[in-house]
Amino acid sequence: QRLGVVAESAPGETRVAATPATVRQLVSLGYEVIVQAGAGRRASFTDEAYVQAGARTGRREEAWGADVVLKVSAPATEEIAALRDGATLVSLIGPATGAALLDALAARPLTVLATDAVPRISRAQSLDVLSSMANIAGYRAVIEAAHAFGRVFTGQVTAAGKVPPATVLVAGAGVAGLAAIATAASLGAVVRATDPRPEVAEQVRSLGAEFLDVGVTQEASADGYARETGDDYDRRAAALYAEQAADVDIVITTALIPGRPAPRLLTAEHVARMRPGSVIVDMAAAQGGNVAGTRAGEAVVTENGVTIIGYTDLAARLPAQASQLYGTNLVNLMRLLTPGRDGRLVLDFDDAVQRAMTVVRDGEKTWPPPPVPVS
Ligand code: NAD
Repeated sequence: QRLGVVAESAPGETRVAATPATVRQLVSLGYEVIVQAGAGRRASFTDEAYVQAGARTGRREEAWGADVVLKVSAPATEEIAALRDGATLVSLIGPATGAALLDALAARPLTVLATDAVPRISRAQSLDVLSSMANIAGYRAVIEAAHAFGRVFTGQVTAAGKVPPATVLVAGAGVAGLAAIATAASLGAVVRATDPRPEVAEQVRSLGAEFLDVGVTQEASADGYARETGDDYDRRAAALYAEQAADVDIVITTALIPGRPAPRLLTAEHVARMRPGSVIVDMAAAQGGNVAGTRAGEAVVTENGVTIIGYTDLAARLPAQASQLYGTNLVNLMRLLTPGRDGRLVLDFDDAVQRAMTVVRDGEKTWPPPPVPVS
């Protein structure tokens, strides 16, 4: 079958769904790979590099007209029309929040696999683009904070005097939060972190950071995700944030609850307690934000001189590596979908991972999937 790697059209989308290295792997699975001319340009991959890896470059219609189309950002409406009948689209979809997109996709005889609907079971970890992108974004959040912060992170003792290290608070120690902790610590900052899931405390400490316990135990969910926190937790957490806000230089928030708006962690009063020149990076900006005053996609400076960064494209700010990791996740998915290694995609609905990711099958909506057994 022909597999198309299309150029991204969303503004600010710099990533591409396959790199020359992953194209080589797709070819070895038996696919004839067509890369839309210029698809890798913004991630610094040339058409020649794709050709050397075994792909053919083609016009937009050729890439979109393939049997299997690989993509990063969810398709625009007019792009759905470019897919041929019976095609399989593999892309970020956001099925929980994109009912209109799902309807538009299901109006065509297509099969659609959402790369952001990978179940969080250990067997599926190698396909999990949310984890690989969160990891990159967590790193970049610290780089953005360091850039906006007018001081060094590392403490120094110099002939001209002592420079104290920056203090960083990371709220939410999931994949993105742990990457942010590791990055801030490696730059020499003093790092603290908090999360309602007590099991992350050990991971936080192993990265050299201090774990701040809110002191109210939250019921764990079977799928490893956080649930919405209770009133008691939120009250105590608010007191902790009030205390920390007055003390730290940088706050990085990453708190998300699957399928719900982002929980509000920092109120306007918390932000007002921060020192001028401090920086907040709200990694939940696209889901409504963890911080009062965040504007998605923007950096704003508050009246008291705090910069709140709400960029929603943190992973796309590191396009080459983000594409490489996303592309590798897709290669692992295509391996699962190509049992004969013969360039033929076979969708197995008895496999919980494939079932969970399939949001449309042959023009029929198949989202939400039945619950995935934890394994
Ligand atoms: P996420 O992006 O949904 O949430 C980010 C973090 O925010 C989580 O750590 C969550 O506990 C935290 N959070 C939620 N509400 C909060 C609040 N009110 N205050 C502060 N923090 C809050 O989560 P994620 O990073 O994608 O993953 C969470 C965990 O799931 C990981 O740490 C990992 O253990 C597990 N996981 C497993 C797999 C797998 O097995 N395939 C893949 C990815 C993640």
